[in-house]
Amino acid sequence: MSIARICSRAACHKPAVSTLTYVYADSTCVLGPLATYAEPHCYDLCADHADRLTAPNGWEVIRLAPDPAAAGPSSDDLEALANAVREAARPLPRQEPGAGTPGAPVEVARRRHLRMLQDPGANSSEG
Ligand SMILES: [Zn+2]
Repeated sequence: MSIARICSRAACHKPAVSTLTYVYADSTCVLGPLATYAEPHCYDLCADHADRLTAPNGWEVIRLAPDPAAAGPSSDDLEALANAVREAARPLPRQEPGAGTPGAPVEVARRRHLRMLQDPGANSSEG
């Protein structure tokens, strides 16, 4: 049995639903699901205080959905996630040393790769 957590704001006795974490290195407040255990820079917030949360000057607030089933991710989040995954899956060199036609070497490499898959012959020499 887990003990109900209370909002950390003064004079507020509502049950906490979110945990606010201050990431000082990035000047970011992360408002996410209730943390499993209390950490030094974490503050439990009730739904009201979590909703009214405003970031300090120069800080950014990142709100995470408390429950994936309760609040589905927005299309923006999915798009951002997809972009991040694409970038991670494509380690294309952004700076080519002295390349006259950017992009051309990559296409050649791809075609070679496809040929090798289609033709698993006895060609041992690479051209
Ligand atoms: Zn509260």
